Amino acid sequence: LGRRINAAVSDLTRSQNLDEKAFDGMVKEICNALLEADVNVKLVSTLRKSIKATVNFKDLPQAVNKKRLIQKAVFDELVKLVDPHAEPFKPKKGKPNVIMFVGLQGSGKTTTCTKLARHYQTRGFRSCLVCADTFRAGAFDQLKQNATKAKIPYFGSLTSTDPALVAAEGVAKFKKERFEIIIVDTSGRHRQEKDLFDEMTQIQRAITPDQTIMVLDATIGQQAEAQSKAFKETADFGSIIITKTDGHASGGGAISAVAATHTPIVFIGTGEHMLDLERFQPQPFVSKMLGMGDMQGLVEHVQALKLDQKDTMKHIAEGVFTVRDLRDQLQNIMKMGPLSKMAGMIPGLNQMMGGMDDEEGSMKMKRMIYICDSMTNKELDSDGKMFVEQPSRMTRVARGSGTSVREVEELLSQQKVMAGMAKKMGGMGKNMARAQQQM
Ligand code: GDP
Ligand code: MG
Repeated sequence: LGRRINAAVSDLTRSQNLDEKAFDGMVKEICNALLEADVNVKLVSTLRKSIKATVNFKDLPQAVNKKRLIQKAVFDELVKLVDPHAEPFKPKKGKPNVIMFVGLQGSGKTTTCTKLARHYQTRGFRSCLVCADTFRAGAFDQLKQNATKAKIPYFGSLTSTDPALVAAEGVAKFKKERFEIIIVDTSGRHRQEKDLFDEMTQIQRAITPDQTIMVLDATIGQQAEAQSKAFKETADFGSIIITKTDGHASGGGAISAVAATHTPIVFIGTGEHMLDLERFQPQPFVSKMLGMGDMQGLVEHVQALKLDQKDTMKHIAEGVFTVRDLRDQLQNIMKMGPLSKMAGMIPGLNQMMGGMDDEEGSMKMKRMIYICDSMTNKELDSDGKMFVEQPSRMTRVARGSGTSVREVEELLSQQKVMAGMAKKMGGMGKNMARAQQQM
């Protein structure tokens, strides 16, 4: 999905006439990709309208930024969809918090019950499990095995055929024993959908849970909307857990479920193992779905390195780009890690490093930094013209840095290109600010 969206955006920014027709085509291509990823049809149409409204095509600056802005608009819209702006349930210490699980057979309820009980257990809540799945032979056995492995107390019945009664009995017992997290697992299968929903209602009446959680299989696709709506109407769950996000599912179903029920996703299942449960975070989830990698992770990584961008950014805003700015940028890039990973993110770097592998590329950058370090402060803070006026400076710097005059010239011409770009972008500060306000 991400590849298709990126391809659509690239096609647009590469095409000669960046006209409105090409833009419409790109939005259409993005929407088709989302539909294929099982995002609900109505949602996609809403998304399409809001992208077209937020990205005012005529006001956009040059191509590079256009691509960024469009990608950001798609990203933001998807994050908005998956974030219902509702506070997720938080259990209270020192009192019983009864949590009931609902969801279709095979969605991952029993597995996730244990994961969640363990999650709270390690955070200091006394946790336990109740098996109210009397429908499937072996359901209690499965819960018992999981619970035993995780050392979590459990309750169930091998003989009862009344799930509401078993649930009530278990909850009452654990309440008396002062457990704080009481998770009730239910059945998800019946011959008739009506029977399943009746059973859910009966259990809910019997135990009056503090929170009902719907478990949704990420691989369910376009059925996600109808299914979550039906469960919402009957069981009025307050949270969603999406399971099997470790598979090939693209996550569109999850987005559709949230949008259809205005209910927050609280956790995601990331594997069959007990520890494979993660708190849901909208931004990384959407990044992954779009194949953009972990954008937030990258941002944090860059922030952690405390890269000093302030001066350069200020310079660019003023339409200036000095030799020192180039040096600082090279240094920053070197700090960030494998070049091949970073190059795609930095305009111009790909061309400059054309065809080199990581080792060659970083060698070249190191030599460029040596060149800068052999310059005087006056030379570093200059626009580079003094080297043209006094070529002996180039000879001195080349000798001092152990490089060649040709390499010094190359560095200066790179700086000149950047300075030219900065000059063009200097007047763009206002446009960018305006574009960002619209988003
Ligand atoms: P239930 O019928 O709703 O209780 O579903 P189960 O808990 O029995 O799970 C059904 C299957 O899905 C089992 O094989 C689980 O191991 C598997 N499963 C559950 N959650 C995940 C997950 O997050 N990732 C993967 N890969 N498998 C999962
Ligand atoms: Mg089960």
